[in-house]
Amino acid sequence: MELARLRARCEEQIRRLRIQAPLDVAEVCRELAEQRNRPIHLLPLSSRPSNPSGLWVSAKSADYIFYEESAGTAHREHIILHELGHLLFGHSGVAQLDDLTARLLAPNLDPSVVRKLLCRGKYDDELEQEAELFATLVLVRTDYQVVRTAAPEVDDPHGVLAKLKAVLGGDEIG
Ligand SMILES: [Zn+2]
Repeated sequence: MELARLRARCEEQIRRLRIQAPLDVAEVCRELAEQRNRPIHLLPLSSRPSNPSGLWVSAKSADYIFYEESAGTAHREHIILHELGHLLFGHSGVAQLDDLTARLLAPNLDPSVVRKLLCRGKYDDELEQEAELFATLVLVRTDYQVVRTAAPEVDDPHGVLAKLKAVLGGDEIG
């Protein structure tokens, strides 16, 4: 797909989401979740440099976007917007949470298995370009004026997300 076409697709989403300055990414996610009738959870993650700075996980009844918590505000919004781009354009989630859940709940978690799951189905360059262009165009559109809102607490009755965060940011994975 040529760049002009990618750009048009991004612009269309930006219009549909009624993006305006100042940008409140958490609010954009809330509205989008309402439209899709499917929650989007934003979760901070402290990853190591070798790990991705953002990750979108599509689960059975919700979407989870992890972002590097040490990132500064504008970078943090860029990371979330990039992952949101993958979600909006229907790029398939890099990892299915249900697969992960099964493994995370297993008594002997093998980090290499989780790493394989996360690396499975890496996006091709065009999908990366589209997500990146979306993030950039949103920030340009809002003149880089971003409001930082606290991410809401997420129900995690089985501690799966906590374990996932530990694995993604953990020392076992290198
Ligand atoms: Zn990406």
